[in-house]
Amino acid sequence: MIKTYLKKLWRWRILIVIALAIMTSIGTTVALANSQQVVVQANVLNIRKGPGLAYDVSAQVKQGQRLTVISKRNEWLQVRISNNQVGWVASWLVKNTEVSATSNQIATVDNNNTPIYLTNSETSTKMGLLQATKTVTILYTNGEWYQIKHNDSVAWVKRNAVHVTGTVDSSAQTEPTSTTQTTSVASTTQNVLVKTNNTHLRSEPNSKASIVTSLSANTTLSYIKTVNQWYEVKTSGGQTGYVASWIVTLQNKTASSGTTTAPKVASNLAESTIVIDPGHGGTDSGALSQGNKYEKTYTLQMANVIASRLRAAGANVILTRNGDSYVSLSGRASVSNKNSADAFISLHFDSSENEGSASGVTTYYYNKNRDSKLASSLNTQLSSLPINNRGTDFGDFEVLRDNSRPSVLLELGFINNKNDFSYIQSTTYQTEVASAIVNGLTAYFK
Ligand SMILES: [Zn+2]
Repeated sequence: MIKTYLKKLWRWRILIVIALAIMTSIGTTVALANSQQVVVQANVLNIRKGPGLAYDVSAQVKQGQRLTVISKRNEWLQVRISNNQVGWVASWLVKNTEVSATSNQIATVDNNNTPIYLTNSETSTKMGLLQATKTVTILYTNGEWYQIKHNDSVAWVKRNAVHVTGTVDSSAQTEPTSTTQTTSVASTTQNVLVKTNNTHLRSEPNSKASIVTSLSANTTLSYIKTVNQWYEVKTSGGQTGYVASWIVTLQNKTASSGTTTAPKVASNLAESTIVIDPGHGGTDSGALSQGNKYEKTYTLQMANVIASRLRAAGANVILTRNGDSYVSLSGRASVSNKNSADAFISLHFDSSENEGSASGVTTYYYNKNRDSKLASSLNTQLSSLPINNRGTDFGDFEVLRDNSRPSVLLELGFINNKNDFSYIQSTTYQTEVASAIVNGLTAYFK
């Protein structure tokens, strides 16, 4: 059961969100300075034209193929497949193999109006003109040509038009899209999201430094800069310190929030990011069973079973809580927004006024355009459960209202109904629900 908070949405709040979204939509991409390679883990991996499922597939690569990483945005990697072919892949479908010791070189443009090209040929499309003293990051050398980083993509410049002036030695740097990059640039438009509980904030950028504090999963930190493989960050309480970059996620602030249009969806489950929201937690116990057992206990059990099934199917799964902790309703929605979830699924168990007077499973949606396809795909599969299916319905829930991504809230049986509760507690039922959700999402992403 979930309480509906009929909080009025303030117009100015929406405007600020939209303004922030526009301000940050220019975006910054993390340029991986060291030439890093990844190996494809999936049988067939889609290469997309941009960092997300909304972008078209431009090519496919097979398991075992090595790709060179150019940059990273959210959880997507920009990779070079061949000399002229560049695209984006989901980082959770590839495996990091090596970070070579060599660094990318920086070159300075010699003359005004130096042309840059789409491919390593003067007959290919001109991408623009660079002015003297402008610096560029060299990604790749091929004959008389350098492949360079250009905005969110790459371009080619003649080697004799520039001269090498230095190297980038940090492994992850932010590079504003339109300005010159030389050394590490602090970005105020990025956040660091903590992925696991008990992540240490340390006083220095190494694992032997003293611990400033321990952070819980889903804590958001302000990114300051990168030092070696560590991010210097600031907590919401104003503490500064360092976290290891490989255990957290760097992301753009307010990325993809503020939109109510239906985002394009993944073409397959393995490429999707799914946020599972185990209802209640901590001081919020949720509804009670007849034997005074808590709803929050079973939403977390159910979430873990679903998460492991989805992960086995290759999806990138994020839980809004991993333990018995309190997470605000808006905080749950923001996990979905910040991670650009392809689907957000909130898990609950219903409760009726009088014990045992109601039974069944309900799928709630909030925004018909955005959510109803997801709701009906899941609901169709939930019909196979041994508990009566009450169908889909509109639900004014804050976790759905504050969400900018396709989202549903599932009431997976009445916890104060003896028969429903016997199912809710059983691992068989939990597994059946997980299968229904995997099947429902598979159908949804087709
Ligand atoms: Zn609930």
